[in-house]
Amino acid sequence: MEDTNCLFCKIIAGEIPSSMVYEDELLVAFKDINPKANVHILIVPRKHIADNNAYSASEDAEIAARLFEVAPKIAKEQGIFESGYRLVMNTGKDGRQEIQHLHMHLLGGNLLSV
Ligand code: 5GP
Ligand code: ZN
Repeated sequence: MEDTNCLFCKIIAGEIPSSMVYEDELLVAFKDINPKANVHILIVPRKHIADNNAYSASEDAEIAARLFEVAPKIAKEQGIFESGYRLVMNTGKDGRQEIQHLHMHLLGGNLLSV
């Protein structure tokens, strides 16, 4: 399942250190190394899926459901449940996707401008 050249697979395997804030059997979540907001967490499936285009509705439905379930839980733990937050998934070149392993950004703690 692991892609040996993938940075996020290495973080999930514990080969590269990260500040983990959440782990279950499907997902992990850790702090972004270069935060764009006061709170910036990456929620990442353990399974290597390159991006939203590679997501399989039949195989990966549990992962998508879990992402929606876990994001507000982490927002609560991070103290931004009430104040609000953004969930962002970048895809491809024009989407400015830097890491080719599906992930959801959880951003909050201050007003965000796009
Ligand atoms: P993308 O542009 O692919 O949606 O977002 C990738 C994110 O991963 C960026 O916000 C970037 O700061 C973050 N990132 C890149 N390398 C590392 C790393 O080694 N550790 C952590 N925690 N985050 C990283
Ligand atoms: Zn990966």
